[in-house]
Amino acid sequence: MRVLTVVGNRPQFVKAAAVSRLLRERAEEVLVHTGQHHDDALSRVFFEELGLARAELQLGVAGGSNTSQLARMLGALEPLLAEVGADAALVYGDTNSTLAGALCAAQSGVRVVHVEAGMRSFDRSMPEETNRVLSDDLADLLLCASDTAAENLRAESVVGRIEVVGDVMVDVALRWQASARTRAEVPAAYGLEPGAYLLVTAHRAGNVDTPQRLGALVDLICALPAPALFPLHPRTRQRLQEHALMERLAGCAGVTLTEPLGYLEFSALLCQARAVLTDSGGVQKEAYLAGVPCVTLRANTEWVETVQAGWNTLVDLDLARARAALEREPPTQRPQLYGDGRAAERCVQAILEM
Ligand code: UDP
Repeated sequence: MRVLTVVGNRPQFVKAAAVSRLLRERAEEVLVHTGQHHDDALSRVFFEELGLARAELQLGVAGGSNTSQLARMLGALEPLLAEVGADAALVYGDTNSTLAGALCAAQSGVRVVHVEAGMRSFDRSMPEETNRVLSDDLADLLLCASDTAAENLRAESVVGRIEVVGDVMVDVALRWQASARTRAEVPAAYGLEPGAYLLVTAHRAGNVDTPQRLGALVDLICALPAPALFPLHPRTRQRLQEHALMERLAGCAGVTLTEPLGYLEFSALLCQARAVLTDSGGVQKEAYLAGVPCVTLRANTEWVETVQAGWNTLVDLDLARARAALEREPPTQRPQLYGDGRAAERCVQAILEM
């Protein structure tokens, strides 16, 4: 069986790192990097640290609006799919690369496998939600991280086969978090003490694209009740500069800004933080796995189980709610939510049986 895997951004490299090695033991995989995230900090470091095979094909598509990026990816993918002669296309998550891979394969009569299918924020203003819903509609095999995701798909009457396999990001996190917890030198390098600092990430369009929301985000971060480390996603850095908010953020006492970090350094910082503030999907799950309280800078989440379990609080950009969430004691229980760390094995098995 020949599988064409399409990846393009940071969380997809993490997800593919879990599946690709196992898939290559039992099938032929051709990895395509769309170029959505192409720089060293968001791309190369993940391939190196997580042992992801070099992409066989590079599309070099980056920048522009979501629509133009999608169109360019489709144009580049179509001839490749025919050339490679793939039996299936494998896509991850909810980005332009996901939808491009799914749509192009479906149009070419190639079966579509969607890993992390069925996640829903029910917020159609998020570009990611459109990508998820459309990719799920096109998929022949829908591999879900949770029962909630599978229920979402049944409610939408998708035509593909639904299987709950667990979350492949958990596979990677479980592999690295034990050692991440012991690396006290990582927070120390930023002058931070384990258990006494906050780790912040933010890059969603809804939080950084307008000056009003970005200003509220900066105000919130500057008023946090502990030292905070904020690795800046390039999109966030660009918007801070465009909206003349960079100086204000950089000048906030107690806030340290860095470039985006590699997976292992970020993981060490996350596992030893007092709490995490984020609008990332992946980081919400990783915080839960690490037993670190999460404050989500959004009004909704796809990872609802982390909220129900009491470890994640949705505060949007409301400072008072963020402060209150940071003061709450975390629950004593932390049930297994997204699988046992062997989701990738189940993904590969399901793909081979397709
Ligand atoms: N991450 C990282 N370095 C950082 C910030 C995040 O390695 O500076 C990792 C994080 O551990 C997680 C993934 O990137 O595995 C999440 O990616 P992102 O927040 O870009 O995407 P999302 O999960 O929101 O789709």
